[in-house]
Amino acid sequence: MQAFLDAIQAGASGDDIAALPLPDTYRAAYVRRDEAQLFDGLDSADKDPRKSLHVGEVAVPEMAPDEAVVAVMAGAINFNTVWTSIFEPLPTFGFLDRLGKESAWGARHALDYHVVGSDASGVVVRTGSAVRNWKPGDRVTIHCNYVDDQDPSSHDDSMLGANQRIWGFETNFGGLADLALVKANQLMPKPAHLSWEESAVNALCNSTSYRMLVSPNGAAMQQGDRVLVWGASGGLGAYAVQYVLNGGGTPVGVVSSPEKVSLLHDLGVEAVIDRKAAGYRFWKDEHTQDESEWRRLGKDIRALVGDDVDIVFEHPGRQTMGASVFAAKRGGTIVTCAATSGYMIEYDNRHLWMKLKTIKGSHFANYREAWDANQLVCDGKILPPLSAVYPLGEVGEATYQVHRNLHEGKIGVLCLAPTEGLGIDDPELRARVGEDRITLFRRHGA
Ligand code: NAP
Repeated sequence: MQAFLDAIQAGASGDDIAALPLPDTYRAAYVRRDEAQLFDGLDSADKDPRKSLHVGEVAVPEMAPDEAVVAVMAGAINFNTVWTSIFEPLPTFGFLDRLGKESAWGARHALDYHVVGSDASGVVVRTGSAVRNWKPGDRVTIHCNYVDDQDPSSHDDSMLGANQRIWGFETNFGGLADLALVKANQLMPKPAHLSWEESAVNALCNSTSYRMLVSPNGAAMQQGDRVLVWGASGGLGAYAVQYVLNGGGTPVGVVSSPEKVSLLHDLGVEAVIDRKAAGYRFWKDEHTQDESEWRRLGKDIRALVGDDVDIVFEHPGRQTMGASVFAAKRGGTIVTCAATSGYMIEYDNRHLWMKLKTIKGSHFANYREAWDANQLVCDGKILPPLSAVYPLGEVGEATYQVHRNLHEGKIGVLCLAPTEGLGIDDPELRARVGEDRITLFRRHGA
């Protein structure tokens, strides 16, 4: 891979890059099928990604006609890498085996190792014979929506496709590696004013937040909306609050430390609740919720922004869903894409139906939504919340940080890129957007 890196660094032409031979193996972060029981009997918090994530050489897979091979300069940690690495709620080998049974090309994925990672930036080095819009040398980011374009159910909204998958989680050959194998319709232009690692962290969380809040497929936020954002300095939340601000709304960010409160203030979010300082106890015990604590949250929100919220941006799940359903205003929407603290959720249905609220499920984003969200990054209107950067060799530690909620925003991972700060093609745009704004989370996390 050194030859690819040298060529990319030297600004070689696409033809020159295409002429370089692909190696037989490449360096990748993976979990092993024979270790899927590694953490049996342990509590989630004690399952340690540093033990299950390995970095080593794996075979370069054959490329299908509708695919591209990308030399990965940087990747990112997403929470799905946490799920894969702690084998929760299920080992992801089941996803690979199912894909393996679907087609001859799908069979490549059903291996005894799973190369993880659902975000990346890099340079296209090969394209299949059916690829029209991309060529070797193109500088790209990769979104994770892996769609079967011959499935009719994919052709209204591809997230409704029966075979829709998340690349690097439900497929193999993900982005925490020196090479990635993707469908050509996962490729998007790299933001020219950002470095490789700043470009790598956005696609998954940015597109998800865009669909949840901005898209008509999500909560279709309006100007003036008040939006409660849980985990407002985390991966999803750091984009969500930017969308609310950009769209003329008022975010109410919830975080868990004074440092995170100050980070959000620096980002322009005025109304912030420190949930630890507030000491909410939405659950009296494992089985019983406390409505008076929901009311206390509602009162705190009204004290900050004058009214109940039109939208709740939900993802913690079991711990917060009862409070979220309560806190949304009459006719409001609770849009949810996850359940970090538990997926068997409980809420008081009377608050939902009597006040005509809607719970809206959302999952990643279709290509159009991912592309539009990426364009906002390219235009400098959405900032990359990159707070820390690890080399690929320390991917276990990087994933541990996210698992234990020790991070802010997004963690980037250097794959082929030897150092931070490389790959900026448009320094003028960077200066216009503002170095301080682009590096806000990085300076905070340093
Ligand atoms: P993240 O970077 O870890 O951020 C999540 C934030 O949520 C944390 O920073 C934390 O903030 C807050 N949080 C965690 N547990 C909480 C609890 N019990 N109560 C209240 N707040 C809590 O993760 P992320 O990337 O934003 O992802 C969040 C979840 O969404 C994960 O489960 C992930 O798998 C899922 N996800 C789903 C999709 C999809 O397409 N369906 C896409 C992306 C992510 P504070 O401690 O500061 O409050």
